[in-house]
Amino acid sequence: MAIALNALCPCGSGKKYKRCCYVVDSEASVDRKAGLPKIIVGVSLVAGVGAYLYTNDLRTGVLIAIGGCMVALAIISFTDPPPPKAGSGDPAGMNFGR
Ligand SMILES: [Zn+2]
Repeated sequence: MAIALNALCPCGSGKKYKRCCYVVDSEASVDRKAGLPKIIVGVSLVAGVGAYLYTNDLRTGVLIAIGGCMVALAIISFTDPPPPKAGSGDPAGMNFGR
């Protein structure tokens, strides 16, 4: 749901949205997007090193670390906003022509 940047902010501060919560909203969404994959990469790197030290098997450790990076990449691509679909069950699309 997009809010016009020059509209009054919905938080009731009386400021324009772009001067108020817009900055907070956009920073929060960037943080959410970037935070989780970073955590997964970090955890999988630690888990990979731990597995290597525990099993003395370098390949297992590398596979775990690479697997974590793949999961993080998948999350980054899944959290990108999907392209809007036209038609097919979308109520906005079905109301065309009225
Ligand atoms: Zn606000």
